Amino acid sequence: CGIVGYVGSQSALDVVVAGLKRLEYRGYDSAGVAVLADGGMAAAKKAGKLANLEKELVERPLPTGSTGIGHTRWATHGGPTDANAHPHLDNAGRVAVVHNGIIENFAALRAELAERGHELTSETDTEVVAHLLAEEFSACADLAEAMRLVCRRLEGAFTLVAAHADEPDVVVGARRNSPLVVGVGEGEAFLASDVAAFIAHTRSAIELGQDQVVELRRDAVSVTGFDGRPAEVRPYHVDWDVSA
Ligand code: GLU
Repeated sequence: CGIVGYVGSQSALDVVVAGLKRLEYRGYDSAGVAVLADGGMAAAKKAGKLANLEKELVERPLPTGSTGIGHTRWATHGGPTDANAHPHLDNAGRVAVVHNGIIENFAALRAELAERGHELTSETDTEVVAHLLAEEFSACADLAEAMRLVCRRLEGAFTLVAAHADEPDVVVGARRNSPLVVGVGEGEAFLASDVAAFIAHTRSAIELGQDQVVELRRDAVSVTGFDGRPAEVRPYHVDWDVSA
């Protein structure tokens, strides 16, 4: 339902949780975050309000890192439980993904992954994406390329945002029939399902087009189609008033 991604020099957890709060008005049933820190991926997710997640983060703090992703979920496949909350990770716990929308062909992809020895631990349509990204990344070591390859296999409507512990300064996003906006800051960059998540930090935004993938670094934003062709990027100024 709500998606936030961050790469920069601030605490990713603080930026992502604040961004998710800005998206609370959309409604949700669970929330979660993942942060890249100390060479690994650390995640926390909880059914219920963001306050539940924040309590969990106080009881079991995550290490501090400056690359992270977060999600507020409105369940479509699988009930609102901790296990079904996003982010979803691969079995090695190196890649994390959050998703808005529905992956229509997830059952076939799940069966295929199970045959190759993957253990899926949730009831969501989303989890297949984490496992597919891990497989593609292990072959190409490029998260944006892995995302393009995976997206070409997905049917349905999706906004996806992912990070990988082996590419710690990168966040990748993709979209089809579901919105995703990039926020371009000074030495930092944001991804969100809605500009409300980052307008406290930057007013420079880029709308990702249909069937496009974005690779986000602190100081660079590159966009291609799912086919790998570079796409034109046209930043615009967000001039709404910031309200409470
Ligand atoms: N279909 C996914 C799920 O049920 C994502 C739902 C959403 O858009 O929040 O987990």
